[in-house]
Amino acid sequence: MAKYTESKCRLCRREGAKLFLKGERCFKGVCAFEKRPVAPGQHGMGRKKVSEYGLQLREKQKCKRIYGVLEGQFRKYYEKADRMKGITGENMLSLLERRLDNVIYRMGIGSSRAQARQLVTHAHFTVNGRNCDIASYCVKVGDVIAVKETKKDNKFFAEIKQMKVGNMPKWLEFNPETLEGKILALPTREDIDSNIAEHMIVELYSK
Ligand code: SF4
Repeated sequence: MAKYTESKCRLCRREGAKLFLKGERCFKGVCAFEKRPVAPGQHGMGRKKVSEYGLQLREKQKCKRIYGVLEGQFRKYYEKADRMKGITGENMLSLLERRLDNVIYRMGIGSSRAQARQLVTHAHFTVNGRNCDIASYCVKVGDVIAVKETKKDNKFFAEIKQMKVGNMPKWLEFNPETLEGKILALPTREDIDSNIAEHMIVELYSK
C-alpha cells in the first residue's frame, strides 16, 4: 500500500493548522507548526490569493491527513457517504470516525491515529471476540473491541490499565482495567471535534 513517509509536521505547516499527528509531542511546546506557522518550502512565506477551488482542495487534504487516509480510499468514503441518507459531509466524517484505528485513538489507547493504526495492524485487538487487524474496519453499534488476552500483559497495555478515562466521546466507552471498549452509538457531527469544513470537500467532489 502507498504510504506517506515524509515529516508529519510538514503536513501541519502545509495545511496551516495543527493536525495533531504526532501524539504527545503535539502538546509539548516543541510543535513545529507553533515554531514556524508558515507553509514549507521556498515560497511558504509568500502571500498569495487562494481560489475557491484551492480552499476546497486544502480542506480535503487536511481531512485526509488527519485520518491518515490516502486519496483513493478517501474518495470511496465520499462516494459511500453520498449514497447514504442524510448530509453527505456529515456522513463522510462519521464513516471516517468509525475506522477501527480512529476508535482505538479516541479510546485513548494510542497517542495518535498513526500509533493506533500500528497497534491494530500488529494484531493486538479483537472485535466481538474475533481477531481484527484491519485499520479501516468500520465499527457498528454494539461492537466490543478488546485487547487480545495474549497481549494484555505487555508493558504498553500494562500502562494503559493505569490510565484514567479522560474526554471520551459519548458514542464510545472504554474500561482501562479490562482493556475493553464498546460502541454505544454512531458518531454524529457534534461528536467530532476536528476542525473540518466538510461541506467544502463535498463541493469539491461534486464538481
Ligand atoms: Fe503537527 Fe503535532 Fe508536528 Fe505540531 S508537533 S506540527 S501538531 S504533528
